Amino acid sequence: MRLVFLGPPGVGKGTQAAGLSSDLSIPHISTGALLREALDKGTPTGLEAKSFMEAGELVPDTVVLRLVQERISRPDSSAGWLLDGYPRNLVQAAALCELLTEMQQSLDRVVYFECSEAEVLRRLGGRRACRNCGETFHIEFAPATGACSAGSGEACDLYQRSDDSEQAILNRLEVYRRETDPLVDHYREQSALVVVDGSASIEAVSVSLRKALGQTP
Ligand code: ADP
Ligand code: ADP
Repeated sequence: MRLVFLGPPGVGKGTQAAGLSSDLSIPHISTGALLREALDKGTPTGLEAKSFMEAGELVPDTVVLRLVQERISRPDSSAGWLLDGYPRNLVQAAALCELLTEMQQSLDRVVYFECSEAEVLRRLGGRRACRNCGETFHIEFAPATGACSAGSGEACDLYQRSDDSEQAILNRLEVYRRETDPLVDHYREQSALVVVDGSASIEAVSVSLRKALGQTP
């Protein structure tokens, strides 16, 4: 299964991708996570991406395409993958299409998670991640309880992403409206789109997602 997750920042794409990719045994490829990893390691790609990410702007298309191309060409991607956060504009959608044609692969589904802006603002404002296991939590909707899954026996070491500041969040939403939202119609026209109500609880969204993809619970 080759899937793209589409929807506003904070709608819950990463949260749902973690469970589904594990169920389907396909890699969860988050371009945001790949970029943050490059940034942490201080690679040339990370340095190039830094200022864009901090401001909530899109990193240049060529930079992100390179990361995606490298990642979906690895052996563990041969049976499928779940792309989370890519493509984010029409240029990236065309680049992905070209790349898949070259690789003689096709996209099975684009899942669009629909949600109001008020709700994604609540979700982004309370988002926290663990420095050790990398899992995403929410101070109200998905609190970290129990020991960290990295196996230290301790609780998770939570932090707030620097691009989850109020200014960067508002900019990301603006960029989403302008650049990414047009992809909904683009993929609808290609009959690849399935729409899931992203405003429900994490469990309810997970059930709708599997139904929309024809997966038995
Ligand atoms: P969120 O979970 O809030 O949607 P992501 O983790 O997907 O955020 O992305 C974080 C940042 O990484 C984005 O604001 C952007 O700067 C950069 N980024 C991620 N994916 C892409 C992409 N496909 N094209 C350009 N920039 C990207
Ligand atoms: P995205 O990858 O689309 O940017 P995330 O998966 O990081 O979104 O989720 C954003 C925040 O919202 C996280 O704090 C997460 O725990 C929380 N969250 C995710 N899905 C839901 C949901 N259905 N209801 C409430 N909170 C959610």
